[in-house]
Amino acid sequence: MGIGTFIAQTINQNAHHLFHAQTPQKCIFCGSSPTTKEHFWPDWLRNVIPKNGRKWEQLRVVENIETSDQAIRRKGGDIHDWTIRCVCAPCNNGWMSDLEKKIKPILILLLSGTVTRIDERSQSLMATWCTLKVMVAEFENPGHATTHHAQRKRMWRRKLPPKTGWRIWIGCYDRRNWKPDYINNIFYFSQKSQSDKKYIPVSRYNTQSVTFVIGSIFIHVIHSPDRALVNGWRFSGPAAGKLRQIWPVSGYSFPWPPFQILEDTDADFLAAQFQLSAKNSLLQF
Ligand SMILES: [Zn+2]
Repeated sequence: MGIGTFIAQTINQNAHHLFHAQTPQKCIFCGSSPTTKEHFWPDWLRNVIPKNGRKWEQLRVVENIETSDQAIRRKGGDIHDWTIRCVCAPCNNGWMSDLEKKIKPILILLLSGTVTRIDERSQSLMATWCTLKVMVAEFENPGHATTHHAQRKRMWRRKLPPKTGWRIWIGCYDRRNWKPDYINNIFYFSQKSQSDKKYIPVSRYNTQSVTFVIGSIFIHVIHSPDRALVNGWRFSGPAAGKLRQIWPVSGYSFPWPPFQILEDTDADFLAAQFQLSAKNSLLQF
C-alpha cells in the first residue's frame, strides 16, 4: 500500500501554536483580503433538505503516533448555518457561486431519489464541489489545514480537484441513527529522503480522510502527498461495494441510486477505516 515508507510524526512543541492559528486574513484561494464567510451548505439546500431542529455534530480526530485526540463538537444551530471565514468576496460571489449553480441540478437530482446515471461530467463537477468543501471546511481551524496552497491555487485557476493524491467516493445513504454530519481524521506523514533514507520532518498535517453527509448522499474523501497510499487504498468489507468513485473520474457512468444502499453500520465503518488502517500500519514501526 505504500504506507510502509511513511511514518506519523508526533507533534512537537513548536507545532502547538498551529492549533490556535488565527482565522485567515487572506483568501485561501487567491490570496486577496478581506475574507468573508462561506456557507458550507449552499443556501438553496434549505428548500431541499429542511431544517431538522437538532444540533448538528462535527467529529474531529487528530491522529498522532502515540495519542489520538478526538473532539465531537455539537454546534449550536442547524448545519445549514455552518459558515467558515476564509474566502474573499470576489471568489465567493464569482467562481465559487458559479460552481454552486452548476452543481445544483446534479445534487437536486441525486437527492430526489430519481433513477438516473451519473456521467463523467457530473462525476467531475461533483468531485470539484466536494474538494472545494473540504478545502474550505478545514479552515475552521487553520492549524488543522492539510491541503497544500498549490492545490488550492489549482482549484481557483482550473476549478478541478488536484490531479493526484486525492480520491473521492459517493454512496446513497439511508441514515437512521448515525449522527455525524462532518468527520475529519487528520494525520502527519513524512516521506523518507531518497538520499539518506531518513524521514523528512513535516511541519503541518498533510493527510486527511473526510466523511460528510448531505441528505441521502454519503461523501468520502481521502488525500495525502503519498500518492501510493492514496492510489493503493482499498476499502474492505461489504460496505466497500456500496461506494462509487467519482475522483479520479472513473471513465464510465454509473447508476444512481446504486444497487446497494449504505446503512448506519456501513457509514460508521467507512468513516473510520482509512484512519484505523493507517494507524495500525504505523504502529508496526
Ligand atoms: Zn479569493
